[in-house]
Parts: sequence; C-alpha cells; structure tokens
Amino acid sequence: MIVILKPGADERLVQDIVTQIEDTGLKAHLSRGEFRTVIGVVGEEGKVDKEHLLSIAGVEQVLPIMKPYKLASREFHKENTTVHIPCPGGGTVSVGGGHLAAIAGPCACEDETMVHTIAREIKAAGAAILRGGAYKPRTSPYSFQGHGEEALKWLRDAGNENQMPIITEVMDTRHVQTVEQYTDIFQIGARNMQNFNLLFEVGRTRKPVVLKRGMAASIQEWLMSAEYILSQGNRQVILCERGIKTFETALRYTLDLSAVPVVKSNSHLPVIVDPSHASGVREFVPALAYAAIAAGADGIMVEVHDNPSQAMCDGPQALLPETFKTMMRDLRAIAGVFDRTFSRAVSTAPAAPAVAMGAGAI
Ligand code: PEP
Ligand code: MN
Repeated sequence: MIVILKPGADERLVQDIVTQIEDTGLKAHLSRGEFRTVIGVVGEEGKVDKEHLLSIAGVEQVLPIMKPYKLASREFHKENTTVHIPCPGGGTVSVGGGHLAAIAGPCACEDETMVHTIAREIKAAGAAILRGGAYKPRTSPYSFQGHGEEALKWLRDAGNENQMPIITEVMDTRHVQTVEQYTDIFQIGARNMQNFNLLFEVGRTRKPVVLKRGMAASIQEWLMSAEYILSQGNRQVILCERGIKTFETALRYTLDLSAVPVVKSNSHLPVIVDPSHASGVREFVPALAYAAIAAGADGIMVEVHDNPSQAMCDGPQALLPETFKTMMRDLRAIAGVFDRTFSRAVSTAPAAPAVAMGAGAI
C-alpha cells in the first residue's frame, strides 16, 4: 500500500511514519515528488493498522497498490524517474525524464585496440555510453564466451579515455563484485531476466542497472523482475526492450514497440530499446531505432563494429561506425520533434566551457 502525505509534510513526520511501519517488520520506501511524499509499504500489509495511519495529521490517503509490482509502479512514484550516471572525468549522463541516451559499442570486447577505436568512433557520432561484453551469454557452450576481467579493463580504460560511462553484462552472482569494480552500469541480459538471485545481488549495489526483457517474458513479469532490484534499495533501474519470440520468423525476434508506451503508462522507470538484438540484421536497425524514439523510448542501445564480417559474435547485426553516425543525426532530428534531447557524455574537446563542466544535450 502507499501512504500519501499532505503537501509540505515535514521530515520529522515522514521519519516517524517510516519508523512506525518498520517497527511492524515491514519495509518503507520513500518516493519524494515535486509536491508530495509517498511512502510505499511493502510486505504483509495485514500487519499495518490502516485506520491508525489515516488518523495521523499530515497523512492524506492510504491506498492499496493494485499491481503485483509496487515500487516499479506509477502509483508509487508518479513522476518519470531519471537515472543519473556519473561520467568519468565529471558530469553525468541522464536517462529518462526527457533525457535520451544512445548506448553503443561492440557485442563483445574482442581486444584492447578495437574497444578503444570503437569508443572513439561512437563518441564522435554522439553516443553517451559505451557498451561491450566481457561475459557473453552464448547459446552454445562451444562459442566464444568473452574475455572476462581482462575485457572489463579494456572497457574501463576506453570509457575513461573518452569520458564516457560504460555498461557491461553480469551473468553470475559470483561476478557481481568484480564487474562492479569496473563498470558504471550493470546489464542484466534477456536470458537472466528471471535470475532472481542475480537481481537481488545487483539490487544491493548502488550502481544503475539496465534490465533487458526476457525473450519470452510478459511486461508484467519484466516489471516484477525490476521489483526484485528495487526491493533491495537500488532505485536506478532502466528497462530495455530487446525483442520477444513470436510466430514471426523473418527476423531474430519481434521488437515489441507497444511495450514502450505500455510500460510508461504503468511504471515510472525509463525504458530504452535495443534494435540490434531484436532484429539481428544491420539493415533494419536504424528503422527500429527511429520508431523506438518516436514511440517514447528514453534511448537506444546498438551494436557497432569496424569489421562486422570478422566479429566474434553478432556480426550480422553490427552497424558500421558511419551508419551509426548518420543514424544518430536522424535520431536527434526525430527526438527534436518530440521536444526531447540526447544526453551526451562530457566532451574531451577543451573548447566549450559548458561541455567541459558536465553532460550536455545535443
Ligand atoms: C547483449 O546485449 O550483448 C545481449 C546478449 O543481449 P540480450 O541479452 O538482449 O540477448
Ligand atoms: Mn550481441
């Protein structure tokens, strides 16, 4: 349930109610909006005396949350959540609440040089965040599994050199601590969307998490997985639609763009779209990216490679840097139509002082 406080409720009252709730063994989560504070009560609600809460001066309403997910719901938090990702070298990249982010990079970090080269290229084209796999979830156990911690070092260095935050997938609870030492954002892949122990583990960190939708998961199941992370106190969750399995076999998956407005209506969390894994075919990636931004997504995540035919994984869907550049130009134009802007990482160029001070918009 949620306890909605009257506008202007003071901090002592908020803390007093939180203590009363937690004394019953339940968890209280605060959502501070522009005008009101809402306290989300999670656990066995029968333990709470609703009439008592209502009798407290300063409490306006006590309402049940009808959805099975609570902290992820719009009922708990009305405003759109903006996730702020610290940039190496200063500033932040924002995702959500009108700020868009383009995440780009190779499927896998294949060697140090390629990671640095692609990082420079995508940065110049307007990407805000660098992606790259160190631990790869492969369908076959005989396929390349990623370079592990070594790859994390390459990615971290390339992020630092280009002053871009980095994102990489964590597949195993045993790797969370190691990955946390290097990354700015955890990626939970589609295949691990319901790896509940992993979700709890990244939920206990305080780093942003991109949670990909499982290829056979409903929107509700996806939001329940987000709830696992949120329930541990990590509020920095970004959802990522990456295609689902349907009867249609023309492409790798079917990009469910309707999920974007549906999630936005039910949840306050930012939603981004990955058209690379959804289609599996480079030719179709830009069209799906444009549609994603038009549908209201808070950003895109795409794979880029300098030599896709030699890529160790997902070559057929990787964009060439040149295509990524033109796609970014067109994405900015589409975003402008909807009065939204792409965030960018701090520029390495010393010229403009506004850029040197932090993240800007392009
Ligand atoms: C990826 O982003 O590298 C990836 C494996 O994606 P997904 O989990 O969506 O298949
Ligand atoms: Mn991939």
